[in-house]
Amino acid sequence: MTTTATAPRALAPFVNEPVSAFSKPEEQAAAQAALAKVRAELGRDYPLWIAGAAHKTGDLLTSVNPSKPSEIVGKHHKADAARAARAIEDAHAFFPEYSRTPAEKRVEMAARVAAIIRERKLELDAWLVLEAGKTWPEADADVSEAIDFCEYYARQMQKMAVPEKPVQMPGERDEMIYLPLGAGVIIPPWNFPLAIMAGMSVAALVTGNTIVLKPSSETPTIAAKFAEVLAAAGFPARSYNLCTGSGSVVGDVLVEHPKTRFVSFTGSRDVGLRINELAAKPRKGQIWIKRVVAEMGGKDAIIVDREADLDSAVTGVVQSAYGYQGQKCSACSRAIVDQAVYDEFLTKLQAKVATLTVGAPEDSKNYMGPVISKSAHKSILEYIDVGKKEGRLLSGGTGTPPSDGYFIQPTVIADVDSKARIFQEEIFGPVLAVTKARDFEHAMQLANDSEYGLTGAVYTKNADKIRQARENFFVGNLYINRKCTGAMVGAHPFGGFNMSGTDSKAGGPDYLLMFLQAKSIAEKI
Ligand code: NAP
Repeated sequence: MTTTATAPRALAPFVNEPVSAFSKPEEQAAAQAALAKVRAELGRDYPLWIAGAAHKTGDLLTSVNPSKPSEIVGKHHKADAARAARAIEDAHAFFPEYSRTPAEKRVEMAARVAAIIRERKLELDAWLVLEAGKTWPEADADVSEAIDFCEYYARQMQKMAVPEKPVQMPGERDEMIYLPLGAGVIIPPWNFPLAIMAGMSVAALVTGNTIVLKPSSETPTIAAKFAEVLAAAGFPARSYNLCTGSGSVVGDVLVEHPKTRFVSFTGSRDVGLRINELAAKPRKGQIWIKRVVAEMGGKDAIIVDREADLDSAVTGVVQSAYGYQGQKCSACSRAIVDQAVYDEFLTKLQAKVATLTVGAPEDSKNYMGPVISKSAHKSILEYIDVGKKEGRLLSGGTGTPPSDGYFIQPTVIADVDSKARIFQEEIFGPVLAVTKARDFEHAMQLANDSEYGLTGAVYTKNADKIRQARENFFVGNLYINRKCTGAMVGAHPFGGFNMSGTDSKAGGPDYLLMFLQAKSIAEKI
């Protein structure tokens, strides 16, 4: 099961995939044509993919368009506990064979995944518009990021295949090589349903592991499309499994199974902690400690200092708080503003929020689409009710009846205390809490007053305050004088501190190590 026999042929240097803004008439026409093509496929049913074969169970999960819940996007055969166990057992059985695939071949397949996604970009954008409620630019950013992950990890695997030589002891030939771990479970969220799923899956496969992918129940159609791409890219039929099904039914089976070697999870804090706990307990027949990589929630803050460019700060806060309806782990949900500019900031913020348009994202005039589901819609509106008591409602505060689509107006609640629930709890919707700080030091204390530590931003022109933020703002991804969303693969390795997760830094040079183990070999010469 060696991964490192030959050094793969070098690929061209990594560059990020360009993202389309869909501002030109020809781009919009192409987008509408892709949408029409995808609409013609709506409502199809999709099998599971387990142990190298398609399976139909007849127990269907229905995925709907969150802008129009009566529109069925796809119907998906759901795995039960027995099929989930079969998936991990077969991934384990096929691992010794797959792990012997030369690194060069795995790198080629990963790069081919990127190429196929690029060819199918507009079509995949359209699936994200319809199934995840993304606007066209947000959908294109998601698909572009998926391409970036594949391209980047292909190049990183080339480096891992030729590791740096350790110190050479006299009279010995010393080396250290990287081996894959085994059969792993990949559990992505719905909010970057292609990018995060593709990133975690391809990182595991390119390093020589076999996988069982359990997609989010909100976005199973995109997962089914991705499984098609893996097959078309040449990944062997038994190297990956698509195990659609409810997290509560198949999740525990996959996590607890003694043949599961690792779990790569991105999602909420509560589910991540549960997985971490279940995976820690060894089961009968298990001979390893399972490795868990869990990337979880955020309660991300932007500090607006009295020495900031206020217009640029307002733009950054609005983009970070309301892009994809605030449903990004990196979304700004707390604006912490120096008292000297607090009132002026609120006036400018309210004016800017009033310009945001909400409606079906397939119409490129809308800046915001729906939230993902009926239950998210309900939970966010409940948080808004809490927020109205905890602070002063400045903008928004309402939603449509869920039967008309899961839309919620961009909401600003001002004068929020740091002990308030809407300051502390992840809402995961278009709700921004604004809090007044006495000065920069106080703003920093407020920003760090959170169990999370994912992203954060500071707007200030003062170099000393920038230095303080670099030293003391306790987040995995810090941004200065720019928005706190929009991490780019390669430039901004992504992952958070504390309850935001294990800080695995997706899209960074260390990420593939999460899927590898190092072996040291010393030979007497
Ligand atoms: P979630 O509810 O935790 O679900 C994430 C995944 O876990 C889904 O595939 C879900 O499947 C599965 N799951 C649920 N229960 C499970 C169980 N008992 N065992 C195994 N798997 C289980 O999160 P989400 O609503 O999809 O995503 C939003 C959350 O993700 C937010 O908290 C956000 O901050 C976080 N997030 C973090 C990052 C990051 O990089 N830190 C990035 C993106 C999102 P079902 O759909 O079938 O329940």
